Amino acid sequence: MNLTSPSVISELMAAHQLHFNKQFGQNFLIDQNILEKIVDAGQITEADTVLEIGPGIGSMTQEMAARAHQVVTVEIDKKLIPVLEETLSEFDNIALVNQDFLKTDVLDLIQAPTPLKVVANLPYYITTPIIMKLLETPWPDGIDLSRMTFLVQKEVGERICAEPGSKSYGALSVIVQYYADPNVMFTVPASVFMPKPKVDSIVISLQKRTQMAFEPCDKNQFFKVVKAAFQTRRKTLINSLSNNTAYPKDVLLDALNEARIDPKKRAEQIDGEDFCRLSNILYQKGANNDIESRQK
Ligand code: SAM
Repeated sequence: MNLTSPSVISELMAAHQLHFNKQFGQNFLIDQNILEKIVDAGQITEADTVLEIGPGIGSMTQEMAARAHQVVTVEIDKKLIPVLEETLSEFDNIALVNQDFLKTDVLDLIQAPTPLKVVANLPYYITTPIIMKLLETPWPDGIDLSRMTFLVQKEVGERICAEPGSKSYGALSVIVQYYADPNVMFTVPASVFMPKPKVDSIVISLQKRTQMAFEPCDKNQFFKVVKAAFQTRRKTLINSLSNNTAYPKDVLLDALNEARIDPKKRAEQIDGEDFCRLSNILYQKGANNDIESRQK
Protein backbone atom coordinates (compact mmCIF):
# COMPACT_ATOMS: atom_id res chain seq x y z
CA MET A 1 0.00 0.00 0.00
CA ASN A 2 1.51 3.33 -1.07
CA LEU A 3 0.67 5.58 1.87
CA THR A 4 1.76 8.75 0.09
CA SER A 5 -0.76 8.27 -2.72
CA PRO A 6 -3.66 10.75 -2.35
CA SER A 7 -6.17 8.16 -3.57
CA VAL A 8 -4.89 5.55 -1.08
CA ILE A 9 -5.09 8.12 1.74
CA SER A 10 -8.65 9.08 0.74
CA GLU A 11 -9.72 5.42 0.55
CA LEU A 12 -8.18 4.62 3.96
CA MET A 13 -9.83 7.63 5.55
CA ALA A 14 -13.20 6.78 3.97
CA ALA A 15 -12.95 3.11 4.98
CA HIS A 16 -12.43 4.21 8.60
CA GLN A 17 -14.97 7.05 8.33
CA LEU A 18 -12.30 9.62 9.16
CA HIS A 19 -11.79 13.28 8.30
CA PHE A 20 -8.55 15.21 8.55
CA ASN A 21 -8.55 16.76 12.00
CA LYS A 22 -7.42 20.38 11.70
CA GLN A 23 -7.25 20.74 15.46
CA PHE A 24 -4.49 18.10 15.55
CA GLY A 25 -2.58 19.70 12.67
CA GLN A 26 -3.18 16.75 10.33
CA ASN A 27 -1.46 17.40 7.01
CA PHE A 28 -0.18 14.14 5.55
CA LEU A 29 2.78 13.85 3.19
CA ILE A 30 1.88 12.82 -0.37
CA ASP A 31 5.35 12.81 -1.92
CA GLN A 32 7.40 9.64 -1.48
CA ASN A 33 10.67 11.33 -2.56
CA ILE A 34 10.32 14.06 0.04
CA LEU A 35 9.37 11.48 2.66
CA GLU A 36 12.53 9.47 1.91
CA LYS A 37 14.63 12.66 1.92
CA ILE A 38 13.34 13.46 5.44
CA VAL A 39 14.10 9.95 6.68
CA ASP A 40 17.57 10.16 5.03
CA ALA A 41 18.15 13.45 6.89
CA GLY A 42 17.43 11.58 10.13
CA GLN A 43 20.61 9.47 9.57
CA ILE A 44 18.94 6.39 11.01
CA THR A 45 21.09 3.28 11.50
CA GLU A 46 20.12 -0.33 12.21
CA ALA A 47 21.12 0.11 15.84
CA ASP A 48 18.83 3.10 16.47
CA THR A 49 15.60 3.45 18.31
CA VAL A 50 13.61 6.16 16.53
CA LEU A 51 11.02 8.26 18.33
CA GLU A 52 8.31 9.71 16.09
CA ILE A 53 5.65 12.18 17.17
CA GLY A 54 2.47 12.11 15.08
CA PRO A 55 2.61 9.15 12.66
CA GLY A 56 -0.65 10.11 10.94
CA ILE A 57 -1.43 7.05 8.81
CA GLY A 58 2.09 5.67 9.24
CA SER A 59 3.85 6.56 5.99
CA MET A 60 7.11 7.77 7.59
CA THR A 61 6.80 5.18 10.35
CA GLN A 62 6.97 2.33 7.80
CA GLU A 63 10.01 3.80 6.09
CA MET A 64 11.80 4.26 9.43
CA ALA A 65 10.89 0.80 10.73
CA ALA A 66 12.58 -0.67 7.65
CA ARG A 67 15.82 1.13 8.55
CA ALA A 68 15.92 1.17 12.38
CA HIS A 69 16.16 -1.32 15.21
CA GLN A 70 12.79 -0.10 16.45
CA VAL A 71 10.38 2.81 16.18
CA VAL A 72 8.35 4.25 19.04
CA THR A 73 5.58 6.40 17.61
CA VAL A 74 3.15 8.55 19.61
CA GLU A 75 -0.20 9.56 18.09
CA ILE A 76 -2.79 11.65 19.94
CA ASP A 77 -5.76 10.87 17.67
CA LYS A 78 -7.43 7.66 18.85
CA LYS A 79 -9.37 7.47 15.58
CA LEU A 80 -6.09 6.93 13.70
CA ILE A 81 -5.07 3.94 15.83
CA PRO A 82 -7.12 1.33 13.88
CA VAL A 83 -5.69 2.76 10.64
CA LEU A 84 -2.15 2.51 12.01
CA GLU A 85 -2.75 -1.02 13.27
CA GLU A 86 -3.64 -1.88 9.68
CA THR A 87 -0.85 0.00 7.88
CA LEU A 88 1.90 -1.03 10.32
CA SER A 89 0.78 -4.65 10.81
CA GLU A 90 3.66 -6.20 8.85
CA PHE A 91 6.28 -4.69 11.21
CA ASP A 92 7.17 -6.23 14.55
CA ASN A 93 9.58 -3.44 15.58
CA ILE A 94 7.06 -0.62 16.04
CA ALA A 95 5.60 0.43 19.39
CA LEU A 96 2.44 2.46 18.77
CA VAL A 97 1.41 4.69 21.68
CA ASN A 98 -1.94 6.50 21.73
CA GLN A 99 -1.11 9.54 23.86
CA ASP A 100 -0.70 13.28 23.76
CA PHE A 101 3.06 13.59 23.45
CA LEU A 102 3.09 16.73 25.61
CA LYS A 103 1.52 14.76 28.48
CA THR A 104 3.62 11.64 27.98
CA ASP A 105 6.46 10.69 30.28
CA VAL A 106 8.88 10.20 27.43
CA LEU A 107 11.32 8.25 29.62
CA ASP A 108 8.65 5.56 30.05
CA LEU A 109 8.66 5.00 26.30
CA ILE A 110 12.33 4.33 25.63
CA GLN A 111 14.20 1.40 27.11
CA ALA A 112 17.91 1.98 27.84
CA PRO A 113 20.50 1.27 26.58
CA THR A 114 19.98 2.52 23.04
CA PRO A 115 21.15 5.11 20.59
CA LEU A 116 18.10 7.33 19.98
CA LYS A 117 17.08 9.56 17.09
CA VAL A 118 13.93 11.61 16.72
CA VAL A 119 12.29 12.10 13.33
CA ALA A 120 8.89 13.76 12.98
CA ASN A 121 6.63 15.74 10.72
CA LEU A 122 5.39 17.90 13.59
CA PRO A 123 1.90 19.28 14.11
CA TYR A 124 2.45 23.03 13.64
CA TYR A 125 0.33 24.15 16.58
CA ILE A 126 2.74 22.66 19.15
CA THR A 127 6.10 22.60 17.36
CA THR A 128 8.00 24.61 19.96
CA PRO A 129 6.68 22.83 23.09
CA ILE A 130 7.49 19.44 21.53
CA ILE A 131 11.04 20.47 20.62
CA MET A 132 11.61 22.06 24.04
CA LYS A 133 10.29 18.95 25.80
CA LEU A 134 12.76 16.77 23.88
CA LEU A 135 15.65 19.14 24.55
CA GLU A 136 14.87 19.50 28.26
CA THR A 137 14.28 15.83 29.01
CA PRO A 138 17.02 14.62 31.37
CA TRP A 139 17.97 11.61 29.23
CA PRO A 140 19.58 9.04 31.53
CA ASP A 141 22.92 7.34 30.84
CA GLY A 142 22.43 4.70 28.22
CA ILE A 143 19.86 6.63 26.18
CA ASP A 144 22.08 8.37 23.71
CA LEU A 145 19.98 10.99 21.90
CA SER A 146 22.14 12.53 19.19
CA ARG A 147 20.06 13.82 16.30
CA MET A 148 16.56 15.17 15.88
CA THR A 149 15.07 15.85 12.47
CA PHE A 150 11.85 17.80 12.15
CA LEU A 151 9.57 18.98 9.42
CA VAL A 152 8.25 22.30 10.70
CA GLN A 153 6.64 25.51 9.49
CA LYS A 154 9.28 27.37 7.46
CA GLU A 155 9.21 30.49 9.60
CA VAL A 156 9.68 28.55 12.85
CA GLY A 157 12.52 26.44 11.40
CA GLU A 158 14.28 29.60 10.23
CA ARG A 159 13.91 31.14 13.68
CA ILE A 160 15.40 28.07 15.34
CA CYS A 161 18.42 28.05 13.02
CA ALA A 162 18.97 31.84 12.82
CA GLU A 163 22.25 33.49 13.73
CA PRO A 164 22.80 36.88 15.42
CA GLY A 165 22.16 39.83 13.12
CA SER A 166 19.48 38.13 11.04
CA LYS A 167 15.80 39.06 10.99
CA SER A 168 14.70 35.65 12.26
CA TYR A 169 17.11 35.60 15.23
CA GLY A 170 15.30 35.65 18.56
CA ALA A 171 14.87 34.05 21.97
CA LEU A 172 13.94 30.71 20.38
CA SER A 173 17.23 30.68 18.40
CA VAL A 174 19.31 31.35 21.53
CA ILE A 175 17.47 28.82 23.69
CA VAL A 176 17.43 25.95 21.16
CA GLN A 177 21.05 26.63 20.20
CA TYR A 178 22.05 26.38 23.85
CA TYR A 179 21.05 22.70 23.72
CA ALA A 180 21.75 21.80 20.09
CA ASP A 181 23.43 22.74 16.86
CA PRO A 182 20.61 23.33 14.36
CA ASN A 183 20.81 23.19 10.56
CA VAL A 184 18.38 23.85 7.75
CA MET A 185 18.27 20.75 5.54
CA PHE A 186 15.79 21.70 2.76
CA THR A 187 12.50 23.46 2.18
CA VAL A 188 9.27 21.63 1.42
CA PRO A 189 6.43 23.22 -0.57
CA ALA A 190 2.87 23.24 0.78
CA SER A 191 1.79 21.28 -2.32
CA VAL A 192 3.22 17.96 -1.00
CA PHE A 193 0.68 17.72 1.82
CA MET A 194 -2.93 16.61 1.96
CA PRO A 195 -4.76 18.73 2.85
CA LYS A 196 -2.49 21.54 1.62
CA PRO A 197 -1.46 23.88 4.47
CA LYS A 198 -1.34 27.67 4.03
CA VAL A 199 2.40 27.86 4.64
CA ASP A 200 5.57 26.25 3.32
CA SER A 201 7.66 23.97 5.50
CA ILE A 202 11.28 23.29 6.16
CA VAL A 203 13.24 20.28 7.37
CA ILE A 204 15.72 21.06 10.14
CA SER A 205 18.13 18.86 12.03
CA LEU A 206 19.24 19.45 15.61
CA GLN A 207 22.46 17.81 16.68
CA LYS A 208 22.26 17.63 20.46
CA ARG A 209 25.34 19.06 22.18
CA THR A 210 27.33 16.71 24.34
CA GLN A 211 29.46 19.55 25.66
CA MET A 212 27.79 22.93 26.28
CA ALA A 213 29.53 25.90 24.64
CA PHE A 214 28.83 27.95 27.80
CA GLU A 215 27.35 27.27 31.22
CA PRO A 216 24.77 29.56 32.79
CA CYS A 217 24.80 29.62 36.63
CA ASP A 218 21.03 29.28 36.49
CA LYS A 219 19.51 28.09 33.21
CA ASN A 220 16.03 29.46 33.91
CA GLN A 221 17.38 32.88 34.81
CA PHE A 222 19.48 32.85 31.60
CA PHE A 223 16.35 32.04 29.55
CA LYS A 224 14.40 34.81 31.33
CA VAL A 225 17.07 37.38 30.53
CA VAL A 226 17.08 36.28 26.88
CA LYS A 227 13.27 36.41 26.60
CA ALA A 228 13.15 39.83 28.27
CA ALA A 229 15.79 41.19 25.88
CA PHE A 230 13.80 40.09 22.82
CA GLN A 231 10.38 41.02 24.21
CA THR A 232 10.81 44.53 22.82
CA ARG A 233 13.40 43.72 20.18
CA ARG A 234 13.42 47.15 18.53
CA LYS A 235 14.49 48.82 21.78
CA THR A 236 18.06 49.02 23.03
CA LEU A 237 19.17 46.20 25.30
CA ILE A 238 19.22 48.42 28.38
CA ASN A 239 15.68 49.67 27.74
CA SER A 240 14.33 46.20 26.94
CA LEU A 241 15.88 44.65 30.02
CA SER A 242 14.79 47.41 32.35
CA ASN A 243 11.24 47.42 30.92
CA ASN A 244 10.82 43.66 30.93
CA THR A 245 12.59 42.55 34.11
CA ALA A 246 12.53 43.83 37.67
CA TYR A 247 16.28 44.55 37.70
CA PRO A 248 17.02 48.21 38.54
CA LYS A 249 18.50 50.12 35.60
CA ASP A 250 21.78 50.89 37.39
CA VAL A 251 22.31 47.18 38.18
CA LEU A 252 21.67 46.32 34.54
CA LEU A 253 24.05 49.03 33.30
CA ASP A 254 26.82 47.81 35.62
CA ALA A 255 26.26 44.22 34.52
CA LEU A 256 26.25 45.12 30.80
CA ASN A 257 29.49 47.09 31.22
CA GLU A 258 31.09 44.28 33.17
CA ALA A 259 30.03 41.82 30.44
CA ARG A 260 31.53 44.19 27.83
CA ILE A 261 28.21 44.52 26.03
CA ASP A 262 27.22 47.92 24.62
CA PRO A 263 23.89 48.76 26.37
CA LYS A 264 22.75 50.57 23.22
CA LYS A 265 22.92 47.43 21.11
CA ARG A 266 19.73 45.51 20.33
CA ALA A 267 19.06 41.94 21.42
CA GLU A 268 19.33 40.69 17.84
CA GLN A 269 23.04 41.64 17.84
CA ILE A 270 23.91 39.58 20.93
CA ASP A 271 24.97 35.96 20.78
CA GLY A 272 24.19 33.23 23.30
CA GLU A 273 27.59 33.40 24.92
CA ASP A 274 27.22 37.14 25.61
CA PHE A 275 23.71 36.60 27.01
CA CYS A 276 25.10 33.88 29.24
CA ARG A 277 27.92 36.09 30.52
CA LEU A 278 25.42 38.86 31.27
CA SER A 279 23.00 36.57 33.10
CA ASN A 280 25.86 35.05 35.12
CA ILE A 281 27.04 38.50 36.21
CA LEU A 282 23.50 39.42 37.27
CA TYR A 283 23.29 36.10 39.10
CA GLN A 284 26.58 36.67 40.90
CA LYS A 285 25.54 40.15 41.93
CA GLY A 286 22.75 38.43 43.82
CA ALA A 287 20.33 40.22 41.58
CA ASN A 288 18.71 36.90 40.71
CA ASN A 289 16.54 37.44 43.77
CA ASP A 290 14.65 40.13 41.90
CA ILE A 291 14.46 38.42 38.52
CA GLU A 292 10.68 38.16 38.86
CA SER A 293 10.40 39.24 35.28
CA ARG A 294 7.42 41.04 33.90
CA GLN A 295 7.15 38.61 31.04
CA LYS A 296 3.68 37.26 30.64
N1 SAM B 1 3.65 11.77 10.01
C1 SAM B 1 2.47 11.99 9.18
C2 SAM B 1 2.91 12.44 7.81
O1 SAM B 1 4.05 12.90 7.69
O2 SAM B 1 2.12 12.35 6.86
C3 SAM B 1 1.48 12.99 9.82
C4 SAM B 1 2.04 14.33 10.21
S1 SAM B 1 0.80 15.49 10.70
C5 SAM B 1 1.60 17.01 10.25
C6 SAM B 1 0.93 15.58 12.47
C7 SAM B 1 0.46 14.36 13.25
O3 SAM B 1 0.65 14.61 14.65
C8 SAM B 1 -1.01 14.01 13.08
O4 SAM B 1 -1.14 12.62 12.90
C9 SAM B 1 -1.65 14.42 14.42
O5 SAM B 1 -2.81 13.70 14.75
C10 SAM B 1 -0.50 14.17 15.37
N2 SAM B 1 -0.55 14.94 16.64
C11 SAM B 1 -1.06 16.17 16.84
N3 SAM B 1 -0.89 16.57 18.10
C12 SAM B 1 -0.25 15.56 18.75
C13 SAM B 1 0.18 15.35 20.10
N4 SAM B 1 0.00 16.28 21.05
N5 SAM B 1 0.79 14.18 20.42
C14 SAM B 1 0.97 13.21 19.46
N6 SAM B 1 0.58 13.36 18.17
C15 SAM B 1 -0.02 14.51 17.82
